[in-house]
Amino acid sequence: LVSRDFHPGATIVEIGDVRIGDGMAPVVIAGPCSIESVDQMMAAARMAKKAGASMLRGGAFKPRTGPHSFQGLGEKGLKMLRQAGDQVGLPVITEVMRIEQLDAVCQYADVLQIGARNMQNFDLLKEVGRLDRPVLLKRGMSATVEEFLAAAEYIVAEGNERVVLCERGIRTFERATRNTLDLSVVPLIREMSHLPIIVDPSHATGLRSLVPVMSKAALVAGAHGVMVEVHPDPARALCDGAQSLDGPAFESLMSELRGLAAYL
Ligand code: PEP
Ligand code: MN
Repeated sequence: LVSRDFHPGATIVEIGDVRIGDGMAPVVIAGPCSIESVDQMMAAARMAKKAGASMLRGGAFKPRTGPHSFQGLGEKGLKMLRQAGDQVGLPVITEVMRIEQLDAVCQYADVLQIGARNMQNFDLLKEVGRLDRPVLLKRGMSATVEEFLAAAEYIVAEGNERVVLCERGIRTFERATRNTLDLSVVPLIREMSHLPIIVDPSHATGLRSLVPVMSKAALVAGAHGVMVEVHPDPARALCDGAQSLDGPAFESLMSELRGLAAYL
């Protein structure tokens, strides 16, 4: 179902006025790693909107490595995300970690994000496959392309064809970057599948200095968009500050991407 062999042409995923896929302008999804407060979320939403992003992200249910790290605001956070998105006029995306969270997340979010750690949570994949809601499926940190596409297949097989793939870096021996951005899968997956694919250079590198150049590289490689972490005050972020762009840095990235898009 997700293979090009049986599906000529490309899938365009529509979220309101936003279209992701072949022939469409590259989309930029921006927002903080975690929703922290009404003020932080509003400031991030204004930053995203002002610079020209087309969708707002923010995590309310956070899959943190350790149990003592900030776990997210849960449903309270979802409300802040929705409110901020409505306020600036951007659709919103947030991660869902468990089936039990789906009702709440669907009440507030336009797009459901399945995180890297849940890429092979097959029950969750099947459940979002039964919903009428676009899904952003992130590649598992040790998932092969075959496993990544098989995970997407679980969603599409249940009837939900609105799946966007996201390369977010894989685990390798290299520790200088948080993960290793596997950019070659972008053109490869475009050959293999009709589903759109975007890149998350923030989680892929873990370093804000690398985010702009890897965002551009992603678009050159054929990505249909990027998802970037931005924060009004990265130094105080409760999660992933080191890879988050502040307002001025995000604006300059956006203007670079606009310049690049003219050549693509
Ligand atoms: C995220 O995008 O907030 C996130 C947790 O990313 P990943 O699932 O790719 O680690
Ligand atoms: Mn993050």
